Amino acid sequence: MILTDLLIIGCGPAGMMAAIYAKRANKNVHIIEKSSPGGRVRSTFQVENYLGFGRVNAEELVNNMVMHLRDLGIEDDYGTVRTVERTDLGFCVKTDDETYCAKALIVASGTRPKPIGCENEKRLLSRGVSYCAVCDGFFYENKPVVVIGGGDSALDESLYLANISSHVTVVHDLDQFTASKGIVEKVMRSPKISIRQGVDIVRFQGEDTLESVVIRKHSDQSEEEIVASGAFIYVGNQPETAFLAGINVTDKQGFIKANTEMATSVPGLFAAGDVTKKDYRLIATAISDGAIAALGAVKYLDSLQPRR
Ligand SMILES: Cc1cc2nc3c(=O)[nH]c(=O)nc-3n(C[C@H](O)[C@H](O)[C@H](O)COP(=O)(O)OP(=O)(O)OC[C@H]3O[C@@H](n4cnc5c(N)ncnc54)[C@H](O)[C@@H]3O)c2cc1C
Repeated sequence: MILTDLLIIGCGPAGMMAAIYAKRANKNVHIIEKSSPGGRVRSTFQVENYLGFGRVNAEELVNNMVMHLRDLGIEDDYGTVRTVERTDLGFCVKTDDETYCAKALIVASGTRPKPIGCENEKRLLSRGVSYCAVCDGFFYENKPVVVIGGGDSALDESLYLANISSHVTVVHDLDQFTASKGIVEKVMRSPKISIRQGVDIVRFQGEDTLESVVIRKHSDQSEEEIVASGAFIYVGNQPETAFLAGINVTDKQGFIKANTEMATSVPGLFAAGDVTKKDYRLIATAISDGAIAALGAVKYLDSLQPRR
């Protein structure tokens, strides 16, 4: 068992920022991460809205963040958190191989992509169906692909895929995109991107790998088959909070309810970043949350010290 002052679940921007503030306040801090550090920033190619960087390659931005951690001597432990329990000490967190106990806990576990739930989505996952263009896009060099969704992520990744694939069809259930105006204009101008709006995905088709995507128009219920070797899904995200079952701090969707100090209703339990209930999920808001959560956790830990 590992004993520490503060545990952080998730080494994305929110968790990293929290760790830096806690470490600088001289707290003993451990981060548990189930993948490589960087979180969902790793699933995009380029970031254009992070202060001080202008347009920056996402991998470079993540590498800089990780270097900042390492410079302060902070390492992350590899493991998937399965359960969190409240104990006399504070919290005990279990991964498959280890138990960590701490007086305070910051949950910064982010979100994962929401599936569509249509026919053959699961069967053809990683055989054409994907949730990450940056991870899988190169498999579709000079091949036609479909992108599903109409927000910033969907359209950004369509532009990225337009540089690799032979053609991109963006499919969206609404009649208007919800992405920022600038991105929509870029997509509209691209000769390699065509658009189908006001349609639903009926099913993915293909024996061993994806061959086409069948869509249905809302207007007349007619179906269309779009030939595609890849389909990239960006229809929203769901919180990574299954391990909090039994601790009543989430809303109906599973997002963590935290106040402006990033504290939950459980003393010593803080949350930061995309995993929290909020309107805007960005790197900037995640790191702001991380800093606030860490300062709150430090104050909480100090309040546990006996007064002299
Ligand atoms: C395609 C795409 C493009 C984007 N583009 C931009 C952009 O241009 N600009 C911008 O500001 N934002 C962008 N975002 C949003 C941005 O990436 C997120 O807002 C930000 O990464 C949130 O940080 P976070 O630390 O809260 O969560 P995350 O980045 O999701 O990190 C959470 C971490 O927790 C880990 N984790 C989850 N569950 C567990 C568990 N059980 N045990 C251990 N570890 C766990 C995950 O592996 C992950 O590393 C984009 C997102 C996507 C998907």
